[in-house]
Amino acid sequence: MPDLAVVIGRRNTPLTDCYWIQSAPCGCIASLTTTTKPRGRGVNVLETAEQAHRHMVPLKRERDDENRRGFTWQLVTKVRYHAEIGTRWTCQQHRKDV
Ligand SMILES: [Zn+2]
Repeated sequence: MPDLAVVIGRRNTPLTDCYWIQSAPCGCIASLTTTTKPRGRGVNVLETAEQAHRHMVPLKRERDDENRRGFTWQLVTKVRYHAEIGTRWTCQQHRKDV
């Protein structure tokens, strides 16, 4: 597999150290995927937000619907994800325990 890296906050991060996360317009996290997926004997690398979206939501109609509703994808490092997001997927507005 090629050694892909992305620059996040000025730091070079291997793509494999990141997750793709999808957020709703309010800030709730809707879904998450790793950047690599086994495919046959090889590995499928999700390099772009669009590839991640296509992997998670195979139906174009549903992807278009999510795009219309303002869902976005962003690449976050696994370190940052586990430090800042973890299981807190719900935005302040939708959090029930606040
Ligand atoms: Zn929310």
